[in-house]
Amino acid sequence: MDRELISIVLPVFNEEQGIQKTIDVLLNYCDNRPERYELIFVNDGSSDQTKAIISKAIREHPEIKLVDFSRNFGHQLAISAGIRYTSGQAVVVMDADLQDPPSIIPEMINKWHHGYDVVYGQRLHRDGETLFKKATASLFYRLLKEMTSIEIPLDTGDFRLMDRRVVDVLKQMPEKDPFVRGMVSWVGFRQTAVKYDRQERFAGESKYPLRKMIKLALDGLSSFSLVPLKLAQWLGTLALITSLITLVVGLITSFSLGVEILFLSTLLGGVILLTIGILGNYLGRIFIQSRERPLYIVSDTKGFRSQLNQINL
Ligand code: UDP
Ligand code: MG
Repeated sequence: MDRELISIVLPVFNEEQGIQKTIDVLLNYCDNRPERYELIFVNDGSSDQTKAIISKAIREHPEIKLVDFSRNFGHQLAISAGIRYTSGQAVVVMDADLQDPPSIIPEMINKWHHGYDVVYGQRLHRDGETLFKKATASLFYRLLKEMTSIEIPLDTGDFRLMDRRVVDVLKQMPEKDPFVRGMVSWVGFRQTAVKYDRQERFAGESKYPLRKMIKLALDGLSSFSLVPLKLAQWLGTLALITSLITLVVGLITSFSLGVEILFLSTLLGGVILLTIGILGNYLGRIFIQSRERPLYIVSDTKGFRSQLNQINL
């Protein structure tokens, strides 16, 4: 029987400091495994030597492949693109900074062999990350759980193994601002966790500044939950009741309504703006989804044997 082929998808953005080490660790891992591997790097518009380092490795190692974006489209779209180029029976998605240890993959493969279609890595500890990042991430996953009807597992990033069937379904979900971990939960199938300790970044800095983290959180919330829209409704009602009470109390206690009116107009103004903001967020998503633009632009591919693999979606 042919050895199984496992595809590993690694999005990379300005990782010149650590990428060679990642390549070495992964090649060493693959050499000692019974399965065959392909390593698909998606270069998400790096402006440093990342592409050059990967291209050099491709010349020496046929299992390494590269999908090159025309600019930075973001981590989630890099994952969406990468999985389209895979041909393995199972696909593993992981960070290219060795925070997701390859030594967990055999355990994932083992569970996959036992019939699970998705095996996700669930973080027990997160080393070397700021208290702020840990606290906000923890809060976000719990909030998301409360606000969505699908079961998105807690403390789970994008490190996971997926069966080909799941990957084929994901390929049919062309979301413009994808929240991949939510989409994987949404598709169903048999899913299970492998617990692991998240390592410290091997080199370089996190490519997720606060701005990108907020975008990811908003994408996650607004693509999987309508609760914020309902929240707007409740806030409106609450503000109306508060203003009526203030009005009555104000009229009874004193006949000058100066402070009360100021308070009421600020409160109502705040609620109205917040509501418009929430609506705008959903409207913006509809607008972006309705434009007939490609999700991302692939400017180059390397290491793929067949030209058929050069899908440009
Ligand atoms: N990344 C990417 N595009 C981006 C930001 C990040 O492809 O716009 C890659 C990055 O190179 C890394 C992975 O996505 O391989 C996860 O990013 P990072 O490690 O910075 O996130 P963190 O682990 O700090 O949450
Ligand atoms: Mg990382």
